[in-house]
Amino acid sequence: MNRRTFLQALMLTATGGLTSLPAWADDDEDDNKTSTNVRFSLANTGITNKHVVIVGGGMAGATAAKYLRLWGGAGVSVTLVEPNPIYVSNIMSGLVLAASRTLSSLNYSYTNLINNYGISLKQASVVSFDNTRKIVTLSDNSSLSYDRLIFATGIQLDDAYGLTATDYAGNYPHAWQSGPQTSKLASLIANMGNNDTFVMTIPAKPYRCPPGPYERACLVADYLKRTGKTGTKVIVLDENTAIAGSDLSAPYNAIQAEPHSFHQAFTQIHTNITYHSGVTGISVTKSSANDGSGSISCSAGNFSAKVINIIPPHRAPSVMTNLCNGGRWAPVNVLNYESTVANMTGIHVIGDASQTTQPKAGHIANQEAKVCADAIIRAFQNQGVDPAPVTNSACYSPITNTTASWLTGVYQYDATSKTMRLWANGAFTDKAIESADISSKNFSKMSTWFNTLMGDSFS
Ligand SMILES: Cc1cc2nc3c(=O)[nH]c(=O)nc-3n(C[C@H](O)[C@H](O)[C@H](O)COP(=O)(O)OP(=O)(O)OC[C@H]3O[C@@H](n4cnc5c(N)ncnc54)[C@H](O)[C@@H]3O)c2cc1C
Repeated sequence: MNRRTFLQALMLTATGGLTSLPAWADDDEDDNKTSTNVRFSLANTGITNKHVVIVGGGMAGATAAKYLRLWGGAGVSVTLVEPNPIYVSNIMSGLVLAASRTLSSLNYSYTNLINNYGISLKQASVVSFDNTRKIVTLSDNSSLSYDRLIFATGIQLDDAYGLTATDYAGNYPHAWQSGPQTSKLASLIANMGNNDTFVMTIPAKPYRCPPGPYERACLVADYLKRTGKTGTKVIVLDENTAIAGSDLSAPYNAIQAEPHSFHQAFTQIHTNITYHSGVTGISVTKSSANDGSGSISCSAGNFSAKVINIIPPHRAPSVMTNLCNGGRWAPVNVLNYESTVANMTGIHVIGDASQTTQPKAGHIANQEAKVCADAIIRAFQNQGVDPAPVTNSACYSPITNTTASWLTGVYQYDATSKTMRLWANGAFTDKAIESADISSKNFSKMSTWFNTLMGDSFS
């Protein structure tokens, strides 16, 4: 990449609604290096001796690490603390369940962040923090001091409905964090036979990836049909209730994202899906074989299942309890993603763990990371925050192994409610836009969107 194209790309990101950048991994005209361990010329911003610690190297943390260095320059050192050597994307993991994609194709290494931007990676977990001393303690008993601390830890899944973390790690995977549970759930689905039933649950909002559970139902139903498993059924038990103003009839008026696409999918494309909404009192009884099968009772009835797949309620991880004010998520000021909890000044929370009006989604995690990085750099320069940040989100949902729908929205800051609100055609609409159809064209565009987003976050 030459200096001119680099600067054009940088300006696009900073001023053009925080849009995604293409990956740079193939660029080879790397001119004007100013540091021995960075691939790009870091800006001279006048900032010196600042250290930001980022907890969690997922969609939010990786993006924040990159942009703090790109925009903050060499005087802002960044340590990314992450226990896993490789990030496994949740996005597209539904296709692994449908045997259309391998799990390893969703692996993203931290090598580019280290080599391109000089980010330090510490392979450990943060176990505690002390904001008076400005220190985090890691699982290897070491500690790191910080000027600013960013939590980007994603989610922690509750024990729920009679299942525990031991069950999730065994034969009752939720697979709502990609990794071994994704492979396990894929093999349970692959082992289903004729007339078997797959029962899944959806927790009450807010949960990670609003369209994700509905997409999962479609992909499992599609896989069972494609592989000729006759008489198989997919039962969806959704705890969510009707959305005010929905133009769909019950039970479909409770679908949390892309309602028209999933209504069409459930009623016309995948007639082997039965969808229930407003479900309460879910209780799981595992089979004596403890093999992923069992029964579920709830307000919608009693169901026997060959495969039980619950998506448990989730929350910010317990290391963040002091940032959550007694709730499940960490409240933040969306102008800089700084915690609004007393005595937590200088601590920022981005991605799924934060409590905002934006969806818990990878694309939004990437966008929140950029707004946060920009605000931290401004703070280091004694400048105020951008008073009118904009974020955007897109999400493609595969409906079969060749077709997809999509959802998109632009969020503008609303100074009255101090929240991010959906915006279109010059006004707040509070409505995301969904695709008019389910098509193979959408499916092919999905790859471009996904590769661009992941490249922007990890390259
Ligand atoms: C099936 C599925 C499909 C999805 N599809 C889409 C989609 O199409 N579009 C979309 O935008 N989003 C999608 N999502 C949502 C998306 O994956 C998440 O919203 C996104 O990953 C959130 O980013 P994050 O950085 O907050 O969390 P994560 O990406 O989960 O990253 C959190 C990181 O923090 C680390 N961590 C946790 N605790 C600690 C600790 N104490 N110390 C150090 N590190 C820690 C974890 O190891 C992890 O690497 C999907 C999710 C699922 C489950």
